[in-house]
Amino acid sequence: MKAKVVAIDERESGLRMILNYGHTLGHAIEAATEFRALLHGEAIAWGILAALQIALARKTVAPDQAERVEQTILAYGPLPPFPATRSKLLAAAGRDKKIAPEPGASSFPKASATPSSSKTSLTRNSTPRSTGR
Ligand SMILES: [Zn+2]
Repeated sequence: MKAKVVAIDERESGLRMILNYGHTLGHAIEAATEFRALLHGEAIAWGILAALQIALARKTVAPDQAERVEQTILAYGPLPPFPATRSKLLAAAGRDKKIAPEPGASSFPKASATPSSSKTSLTRNSTPRSTGR
């Protein structure tokens, strides 16, 4: 999954922001489900799907790009559902430093943002910007 998504992203740098944001949301999903409901990769995949929806709503990603990422993720099989209340998810997301907006800065990057040189990975312990898990 990683290689494919990153391969798409190298041509369209805005998608890398979605991967990073999706990773953050995935961590929130893990926290909200007490790390029991999903594998790490499954939580991150859900997070990326959520980030895609946010990006679509904000028009920071083209629908065809979002569709390609979504189909790439879902090509690996259906994602298991997870039990988490909205309030738990929001609380977990709010605890993550990366998701909290800095003063004067948008919390969600624009599709036209400068490409990041850091590599995004869907595996644990390999994301430079990770604050832990
Ligand atoms: Zn992670």
